[in-house]
Amino acid sequence: MILDSLPLPEDRFYPSDKFGFSCHEGLTCFNSCCRDKHLLLTPYDIIRLKKALKIHSDDFLCNYTIYHTDQNSGFPVLSLKLGDAPERCCPFVEKQGCRVYANRPTACRLFPLGRASSIKQDGSRPDEFFFLLNTSGCLGFNKKEELTISQRLEDQEVLPYIEMNDKMLEILFHPRRDRKKPLDDKQLRKVMVACYNLDVFREFVFNTNFLDLFEIDLETRSKIANEDEALLNLGLAYLRRTLF
Ligand code: SF4
Ligand code: SF4
Repeated sequence: MILDSLPLPEDRFYPSDKFGFSCHEGLTCFNSCCRDKHLLLTPYDIIRLKKALKIHSDDFLCNYTIYHTDQNSGFPVLSLKLGDAPERCCPFVEKQGCRVYANRPTACRLFPLGRASSIKQDGSRPDEFFFLLNTSGCLGFNKKEELTISQRLEDQEVLPYIEMNDKMLEILFHPRRDRKKPLDDKQLRKVMVACYNLDVFREFVFNTNFLDLFEIDLETRSKIANEDEALLNLGLAYLRRTLF
């Protein structure tokens, strides 16, 4: 998440802080949070969702996302395309709940919290903190069911998402990037294909001299042929090396 301004220090939560929250079907607010939200999608969110829907990344981007560029950085930002007003429902919400629940995006797993992270120059785990989002109408706050934030992250199976999402920080905070200049069209297209449109990136990798040019070993070739996570890691490495 790219924040316009940082939450005040007293409004921040850290992994060992306790947080009482419990969301379940019996609540009268059930499903009400799955509408009218600006829901950002990370590259790893898109991998999981397109796999759940069994569709090509191009179809996912065309049918389920809204594209814009971040005003300051010029980096592409994708959000989930919602249904028509006034409800503006998420396309995946059904009466019984989320139809892609096992593959729901990072923002849904973290809700009602948001997470901010920034890179450390020594390569160790990024600094992170959490903060409460707008939760009007949410009835999930419950003192009896307190977990630490760390426990909640495990409970919501969000750690693999965080690990992959944080790899984007190395591109956003790349030492060769001129922070005053937004990305140009060529850089923008590179990021879109190597991070977000992975099925097209795979076609590019296997149908050009990419594998030889970047000396990709046989084991990696076999992995990226079948695993989107491995291909995204290659895409990120390619961007780290060539984007700036
Ligand atoms: S993806 Fe699922 S959990 Fe997230 S907003 Fe849509 S229906 Fe709700
Ligand atoms: S509004 Fe809060 S408690 Fe209600 S379904 Fe959404 S997250 Fe759960």
